Parts: sequence; C-alpha cells; structure tokens
Amino acid sequence: MQKDQLFTRRRMLLAGAAVLGAAGTAGLVVAGGEEEAVRTAAPAPVPGPQARQAPLRSSAFRLRPLTGGAPARPAPRRLKVRTEPIFRIPEHGRQMMLTFDDGPNPDYTPHILDTLAKHDVRAMFFLCGECVEVNQHLVARMAEEGHVVGNHTWTHPLLTTLDRSEIKSEMERTSHIIEKTYGELPQWFRAPYGAWNRAAFQLGAEMGMEPMAWTIDTTDWDTPGTDVIIDRVESGAAPGVVILSHDAGGDRSQTVEAIQEWLPYLLDSGYHLTVPNRRL
Ligand SMILES: [Zn+2]
Repeated sequence: MQKDQLFTRRRMLLAGAAVLGAAGTAGLVVAGGEEEAVRTAAPAPVPGPQARQAPLRSSAFRLRPLTGGAPARPAPRRLKVRTEPIFRIPEHGRQMMLTFDDGPNPDYTPHILDTLAKHDVRAMFFLCGECVEVNQHLVARMAEEGHVVGNHTWTHPLLTTLDRSEIKSEMERTSHIIEKTYGELPQWFRAPYGAWNRAAFQLGAEMGMEPMAWTIDTTDWDTPGTDVIIDRVESGAAPGVVILSHDAGGDRSQTVEAIQEWLPYLLDSGYHLTVPNRRL
C-alpha cells in the first residue's frame, strides 16, 4: 500500500474515532479528582507514528496547538498513585471496551485486527515487550488502525514475586519499545494475571500510566471452547464493561473464532465499543 493511501485510511479511522468520542468517550478516564478535567477535555484520536510526520487536519486536532515541526516528545505526566486499578469505564450510554492481552502474536493478532477492522471497531492491546520486539510490524498496524496500546510488562512475570527494581525494568523496557514501535509512550498499564502491588501502582504513576484492569474475563486463556467464550461476552455485556481476551500466550484460535460472532452481536445490541482518549 502506498504511504498516501495509508494516510487516507488512517484519516478515515481517525474521523470515525472522533465521532465516537463526540458520542461520549470524553469522560472515559475516571479517576477521582481527575474526572472533571477529563470530562471537559475534547475527544481526540490516538495518533500513531504517521501523525508525527504530518499533522492530520481532522477536526479532532483543532484544540491541540500544532507547531511547525515535529512535536516535542512529551514527558510522561506523573499521575496520582492509585490503590486499586480501574475495573470499568463510565456508563455513558451503552459503551463497552475491548482489551486483548499478551501479544502481539503473528498467528492470532492479525485475525483479530482484521475482525475489528471489518466492523470499524477500535480496541486496547496490552502488549508484552518481548513480543513487541519480534512483531514490530503488528504494533505499527495497531497504530495505523487507531487502536490503543498499553504496557503489560516485558516477560509477563507475576509482579508480586519481584523486587521494585525488577518491576521497574519490566515496565520501563516495555514502555520504551512501545514508544519506538507505536509512536508514543503507553498511558495504560495492566499487571500480568491482574496481580497488582504497591510498586506497580507507584511506578505506573511515575511513568504516566493508569492501571487498567477488566470487568469480564472471557477465560479464553483456559481454552474453554468457542461457545463458552461467546457466552461469557454476550451474557456479561452491559454498559461500562471492560472485556478481557488474549491474542497470545497459547493457542488463541478459539478467541479468534469467538470474536467473529460476539463482536457483531454486541454491535447489533446497540453497544458502542470505545477506547480511552488520549490525554491533552
Ligand atoms: Zn497477561
């Protein structure tokens, strides 16, 4: 594909994301005292590497000051240290969020991206640095197609068994390779196995990442059968729900198959599948 075609495709996706934002994602990031600030922020899509080379003229960018050259790399904003992760998104209408962990993986991630693209849906991918390193093109594709990526550590360890410097290394290396491949630092962190500890919350806040958990676990990691995965999503669907699936870490063919059925079901049921806004 030519580069200008990529731009056009990306612009279309961003326009879609802006519309979605206008429908109510502006308040997505809830966090105690920060909620108000986020609510008043204009919705903005998530720019990937391309956005660094040429400012897009999407209306969503109007409130961002555009300077002549490439924007300076923003330092991660220090965040409030939480004591528990975010489990749901605000209930603005029938909004839900899809998340995929442990990838990217060359056997499964492309199929999931294809299905998301087919339905014009954006999702969050919590990436492991060691998988990013060998599948950089898939992270570039995520950026290209408007998905949001988060930090899921480098090697997927149980953080509660590590000391602080080991946790820091796991998180920092991953943020750096995401910045290199996706085009910006991740603003979201998810602890492997959902096993959080104080160091993870503190370090995440220092690195500008909010801790994102989930509401519904599809249990696809246990390969329970495609029908079970579909049922867990469809019966768990509700406003504000964050769905957890996996695009790596084992045989994920059931995940790939299941999403082809549950995604159109959610859309037909009137759900809007959203991703967090970039902070301004
Ligand atoms: Zn994981």
